[in-house]
Amino acid sequence: MSRSVSEKLGEGWRMMCPENHHTLEDQVGPTVYCEQCNCAYRYDDLIDKAELGSGKRGYRH
Ligand SMILES: [Zn+2]
Repeated sequence: MSRSVSEKLGEGWRMMCPENHHTLEDQVGPTVYCEQCNCAYRYDDLIDKAELGSGKRGYRH
């Protein structure tokens, strides 16, 4: 497994909601709350800037 999303969230700059906000609060379960969107997202919906920078979508086989 790759690093957990909650670890990545701890890196501040890295994870964004689908609207490109960084105002994410980790919640119980695999979800975060975006203060600017005023709603919750699943980890699967988030954007990882580190993966964008590598030119891949981050799916490994
Ligand atoms: Zn947002």
